[in-house]
Amino acid sequence: MNTDCIFCKIVSNQAPSSVVYEDHEVLAFMDIRPVNVGHTLIIPKQHFVDVFDVPDELLGKIYTSTKRIAKAVKKVVEADGISIVQQNGSAAGQDIFHFHVHVIPRFEGAKIPRFHELSVASRQSLDEIAARIRSEM
Ligand code: ZN
Repeated sequence: MNTDCIFCKIVSNQAPSSVVYEDHEVLAFMDIRPVNVGHTLIIPKQHFVDVFDVPDELLGKIYTSTKRIAKAVKKVVEADGISIVQQNGSAAGQDIFHFHVHVIPRFEGAKIPRFHELSVASRQSLDEIAARIRSEM
């Protein structure tokens, strides 16, 4: 656990999150600044900085969970497509230095907005969509 890390705080319930999926190694929860409704983050519970830091076997488990979650998200929000995005290093746009995979619903013709254009979603709306995604898994 890294005490300065917001994702480690979420794992240890020291910060709120709207959980979609959880097992002993992986946690998935709603992004607080969603690009679209259903935008989900998948993380290892243990603190790893980036893809180069995550053990291969765990990386496989994270992406197996990511695939299942992406399928459920796509169905719940009736997305035309799903982007699965993962950044490594600030030059690549990594903002939180705890490995995380984004599952982002996409719709025909709609571009992804810039980060500063995104607003924080209410906890209630995130809890509601998380419950709908959980029910599809
Ligand atoms: Zn962390």
